[in-house]
Amino acid sequence: MSILIAGGGIGGLAAALSLHAAGLHELQVLEAASEIRQIGVGVNLPPHAVRELTELGLGEALAQHGIPTSELSYYDRRGKLIWAEPRGLGAGYRWPQYSIHRGRLQQILFDAVVARMGEAVVRTGQRVSGFAPMPAGARVQVTDRSGASPATERTIDADVLIGADGIRSAVRQSADPALGALATNGWMMYRGTTRSGPFLSGSSMVIIGDEHLRVVVYPIEPGVNNWLLVRPGAGAGDELGNWNRSVEPQAIAQCVQDWTFDWLDVPALVAGSDIAWEYPMADFDPLSQWVFGRAALLGDAAHAMYPFGSNGASQAILDARVLAWQLATQPDIDAALAAYQTERLPVASAVQLANRRQANDVMAKVSAMVRQDAQAGAQAELKEVEARYKRLAGFDAETLNARASWSVGGR
Ligand SMILES: Cc1cc2nc3c(=O)[nH]c(=O)nc-3n(C[C@H](O)[C@H](O)[C@H](O)COP(=O)(O)OP(=O)(O)OC[C@H]3O[C@@H](n4cnc5c(N)ncnc54)[C@H](O)[C@@H]3O)c2cc1C
Repeated sequence: MSILIAGGGIGGLAAALSLHAAGLHELQVLEAASEIRQIGVGVNLPPHAVRELTELGLGEALAQHGIPTSELSYYDRRGKLIWAEPRGLGAGYRWPQYSIHRGRLQQILFDAVVARMGEAVVRTGQRVSGFAPMPAGARVQVTDRSGASPATERTIDADVLIGADGIRSAVRQSADPALGALATNGWMMYRGTTRSGPFLSGSSMVIIGDEHLRVVVYPIEPGVNNWLLVRPGAGAGDELGNWNRSVEPQAIAQCVQDWTFDWLDVPALVAGSDIAWEYPMADFDPLSQWVFGRAALLGDAAHAMYPFGSNGASQAILDARVLAWQLATQPDIDAALAAYQTERLPVASAVQLANRRQANDVMAKVSAMVRQDAQAGAQAELKEVEARYKRLAGFDAETLNARASWSVGGR
């Protein structure tokens, strides 16, 4: 079975590793970028994603390069603790939770792909522009910009096309241009990393603020803290889905100038970054379909979501594992793709919607309680929200610890 993967990001590379581990070796990853570079800032991987990466043999690399998140804490904008819970091994999981640089994670996946499958498996400078369905496959259109000469167009036939080409997926567009219209909730997100030493436990993830202004901070390397600040400000003119717009960190630090606490100096943290990135919060409504003939969407291409809940990369990794499992174990390719959609689409769609609630309603409700000094109510609300979220996203400890493996031959 020949499989073409559009996109060498987290989802595409996790798919290559999963398919290879499942015994499907006729693979090609086409990446639009001219090289795999360590772009982005931090991502957080809860234990459901870490389990899958561990079962792919990457547990040691994660332990070496990530920080095991030990707690998640909510603070109000005066720096007062609202509620905290343990995370990872301390919360009873069989796998840790990690915070890690996104580019580092992508590099770990890429290095494993190259080590296991050879360098030729990932081709850079190859933009997939669309596909045409064939009776038992897909004819994939590719723009090749890998050489010094002008770009050339070509087609590649594959039994299966996996669209792991991110939030602005060309595969999704080609399947149905009406699908996945990006929209913003009007919030702007700013992100950066700062070498600023440990805070709290040294492995804490904190969410500070309310429904008007919020900052998330967690370490991604010893002494390096990742921060994310969100506030209203995205407008109709903003380009949605572009991860690469830089801004001055000092200007962003002004938004939190009085957020200096005895446990963390937020303005100094934000201002201390060499560079910050601006990203209008964007997602699209859950899709009703991920599979179009022999083309299947995966990761952000299928379910771009607001980054509240640490599940963007995680759900992409889960997609990869389930798709590989289905393709390797079903006797029929079409049945396997249908089973993949049946298993994954409802879960990821629920996470997309939950992340919208986390971004808006949950914080508004909790913050209103905090302002009224209803601490116990705020704590109960957050506890319930987090528990519900874990169940729907697939990382409630009891279920995850007991669930059968998606490794072929691993049950
Ligand atoms: C540059 C960048 C920086 C990011 N930074 C962060 C971050 O700091 N924090 C965070 O939480 N999330 C970040 N994300 C998003 C996060 O990586 C994804 O939400 C998540 O990992 C899901 O992975 P994915 O593989 O579906 O998408 P992505 O990781 O976005 O990967 C998609 C890949 O497809 C490639 N591609 C796009 N179009 C085509 C095409 N037509 N043909 C071939 N290849 C194509 C892209 O270059 C990219 O490598 C970033 C994404 C990108 C691309």
